[in-house]
Amino acid sequence: MPFALPNEKSKPKSETEAKLAHITRHLDKNEKAMVRKAYLLAEDAHKFQKRLSGEPYIIHPLSVAEILSNLEMDCETICAALLHDVLEDTDITREYMDKEFGPTVTKLVDGVTKISEMKNQSRENRQAVNIRKMILATVEDARVIIIKLADKTHNMQTLSHQAEHKRERIAREVLDIYAPLAGRLGMYGMKAQLEDLALSHLDSVAYQQIKEAIAEKKADREERIKVTKSIIESKLRESKIRAKVLGRTKHFYSIYQKMKEQHKSIDEIYDLSGVRVLVDTIQDCYTTLGVIHTIWNPVPGRFKDYISLPKSNGYQSLHTGVIGPGGKYLEVQIRTQEMQNVAEYGIAAHWAYKEKIKNTKTIQENFHLLQNIAQMQDEGADEKTFMEDLKTNLSVSEDVYVFTPKGEIIAMPMGSTVLDFAFRIHTEIGLSCTGGKIGNKPVSIRTALRSGDQVHIITSPHAKPNANWLRFLVTPQARSKLRSFLRKRDGEDEPAEVRTETAEKEKKNDEVVKPKARPKKEEDSSPHWEVEWEGQTGFDTRFAQCCSPLPGDPIEGYLSKNHVVSVHKRGCPSLHTIADQEENSGRLIPLHWKSQTENYSAKIEISGSDRPLLFLDLVSGLTRAGANILGAEAHTASTGEVRDRFNIEVDSRELLETILSDLRRIPGVLSIHHIV
Ligand code: MN
Repeated sequence: MPFALPNEKSKPKSETEAKLAHITRHLDKNEKAMVRKAYLLAEDAHKFQKRLSGEPYIIHPLSVAEILSNLEMDCETICAALLHDVLEDTDITREYMDKEFGPTVTKLVDGVTKISEMKNQSRENRQAVNIRKMILATVEDARVIIIKLADKTHNMQTLSHQAEHKRERIAREVLDIYAPLAGRLGMYGMKAQLEDLALSHLDSVAYQQIKEAIAEKKADREERIKVTKSIIESKLRESKIRAKVLGRTKHFYSIYQKMKEQHKSIDEIYDLSGVRVLVDTIQDCYTTLGVIHTIWNPVPGRFKDYISLPKSNGYQSLHTGVIGPGGKYLEVQIRTQEMQNVAEYGIAAHWAYKEKIKNTKTIQENFHLLQNIAQMQDEGADEKTFMEDLKTNLSVSEDVYVFTPKGEIIAMPMGSTVLDFAFRIHTEIGLSCTGGKIGNKPVSIRTALRSGDQVHIITSPHAKPNANWLRFLVTPQARSKLRSFLRKRDGEDEPAEVRTETAEKEKKNDEVVKPKARPKKEEDSSPHWEVEWEGQTGFDTRFAQCCSPLPGDPIEGYLSKNHVVSVHKRGCPSLHTIADQEENSGRLIPLHWKSQTENYSAKIEISGSDRPLLFLDLVSGLTRAGANILGAEAHTASTGEVRDRFNIEVDSRELLETILSDLRRIPGVLSIHHIV
């Protein structure tokens, strides 16, 4: 035993006593004793250390514990917070901690402890290794990250004691990693605090400007909130709804981001402030929404229902924007008190002392982020790849909600593509995905999903998974599944290199082999259907004779050396005989028909036996079905055999098919041909 526990009776200063009483105010008697024991050990272990400010080191763990006690975190978390730097900085061992405080506290402390034996590695690499270690411990127990976030918060509060070059690096890391992590875990209170602290160091001029502008408008804003509040409260009273209306101001960093993104001055940011209405029940939330929409006109597109579709971090609320008092835009959030706790404390709310259900597994499973991260444990990935995946994962803060063909709802990070969705359903489906359909529209694998999309995945045995796919995969699961597939297929270590190499190659291809723009040219026999390649149209196309693709068919193209795109049905065997040859790699391109809503024309020939009004019946049949008749020819032979030709324009292939089957039912019609 390296250290004996200090004598329980040695009296800490009364100030410390008060602090200890404060941070354990929500705990029971035994727990209070446990926290005191942790404090005494930490104080003794750190007794020769000072902070950069010159203060005794113990101030730091004590402050971290205080932040966590304000979140009403449980006893184990508070103890671990007090001990969080002990393994890293002092001679106390894991075994000793285990014996005195139990395996859970030790595990939590271990999770936030850096790996020390990495002397000859770059700082970036050391940072990546440590963050990865901490993240993986978080997957086991989310309290690790909660402690780390509190640790970062206190470090940021005291950052001005650091050397200048370190300050910027630390603030940057907080903005890139820790604040987004807090957000994804729903800890919006801590996220806002971390962001504002980071901003004050990274752009102190902007920070100061925003601070002054907000202070200047304070009276104005408060007056507006007061008026708004009293209007809402009196209307809700009439509807017998108990409500608390609070004014709210955006935090500095979110104002800063808006100014940057929208190139606006602070005066032009219209939703600087808003109100939040807290009510008792979910039913009351919706009633309140209705009441507010009768007081003021809602602004279209601003209503969001996170109650029926909670964010993946559990956030629930109704959001709306209205033209409020004085004709000014007003943002309104409506939620229950319980939703408010989740919105403020996120995952920490589930760990809160008063929460009786503390099943680690259930809590962990409720958070997409943790599941995502758990699936990021691609053994083969190096540190750099891991950090890249983590940052990609964190850079999206919102989810989109899409539907499977069966109507099942799936939440995906914003920016996810059709290919991400395919991998989410099943690895095999991802690997054989060649495109998709959203509603009735064919889309490429790289199409970004939007909420409400119903996505149908198109697979083909001819799909060619390759490293370029990493460029439009957003979800870490999909990225790591693809990478491990490529690694197995192509041998070790390839993907990382291939990625840049093929990206280079493709760039070259783009320069060399570009389809020629179609010259305004004379009539030819080739049909004039337009196809799209990566959003581009108007290039020279040939429709292949081997498989005669028709609008609506899934298609792909071959980019010939003389810059002509030949269009084939997807999976056409003769196309693949050529395209799959080594020297033709990269010439196979995804194609789809240009916007399905655009008309295309078709020629049909109808044979039948003559009767009075047959031609007229055909014409009215076509018009009723919505076809636009561009031309018609009627031929009646002396035998009474009729051959009528129509040149029509229709919206879609589906419509054409309906029309044809309707026409077949007209008496006298024998056969209908679709002629190109
Ligand atoms: Mn610390």
